[in-house]
Amino acid sequence: EGGGAVSGRGFFNRLLRRDAAPVVRRTLDDDMLEQLEELLIAADMGVDTAMRVAANMAEGRMGRKLSVEEIKGLLADEVARIMEPVARPMPLYSKTPQVVLVVGVNGSGKTTTIGKLASQFRAAGKTVVIAAGDTFRAAAVEQLQIWGERAGVPVLTAPEGSDPASLAFDAMVKAEQDGADLLMIDTAGRLQNRADLMEELAKIVRVIRKKDPEAPHNTLLVLDATTGQNALLQVEIFKKLADVSGLVMTKLDGTAKGGVLVALADKFGLPIHAIGVGEQIDDLAPFDPRDFAEALTG
Ligand code: GDP
Repeated sequence: EGGGAVSGRGFFNRLLRRDAAPVVRRTLDDDMLEQLEELLIAADMGVDTAMRVAANMAEGRMGRKLSVEEIKGLLADEVARIMEPVARPMPLYSKTPQVVLVVGVNGSGKTTTIGKLASQFRAAGKTVVIAAGDTFRAAAVEQLQIWGERAGVPVLTAPEGSDPASLAFDAMVKAEQDGADLLMIDTAGRLQNRADLMEELAKIVRVIRKKDPEAPHNTLLVLDATTGQNALLQVEIFKKLADVSGLVMTKLDGTAKGGVLVALADKFGLPIHAIGVGEQIDDLAPFDPRDFAEALTG
């Protein structure tokens, strides 16, 4: 135990350790397969993905006697196979400023993630500007300013309640003037009035395209892994609201439900650019499919 970023680890032991030491071999039969499906569902993989993963793992192996370690290894292989294509860092373009629009529901970790990303980009020698586009939440703006200070990155703000699109435009101008490599734009995350939010996001995009027709170059959706299957719903909603190009999964340090990442990869195939593994500025890691698969099935 310990050490890994994902705390889904250990959940197989609930089934497998109970009645079998790792070296004991068990017949892979329908009953065993059903138990494995249940474990995968308990890890929040969702029914469809859990059944597919278990079935693929069992294909050609039914009736064979396998050790616990072998079963874990085969399941880890299957999970890694699904996750490998989506494990991609956020692409960096030579075009400057590269505009990164950050969307997601309130509380998902947008502010924290912007701060962590800004810090990483800074460490990589990039200049960054942040725009506090959630102008209706004073607390969000304050939080973002704190993160900007931590990361050593300027945060552009506008008066409470003012038009986020006009702030975004001003931020484009400032980022250009500063010769910034990246402009990260925070956005509102209130889903209570989706039509409003859609219009707000669409207007931000329209306005920044006046400065650069190719912007935003990335639209990151920040998802809280502890919300489990709800994350799937959030992807569906935000795909309608914005042209989501990649995901950041936060709070993977505090959940045994990391299986939702497998369901997300299986269902949407969107790249997972990074994972949040804590509340500190350095707690953002690249997504490693092999580590993840082993932690989930270990
Ligand atoms: P926002 O409303 O989407 O901007 O969310 P915040 O960035 O304010 O984050 C909401 C809460 O989640 C804060 O308490 C953060 O410290 C916490 N948080 C964000 N990312 C992570 C993470 O990766 N791990 C943990 N444990 N907490 C996180």
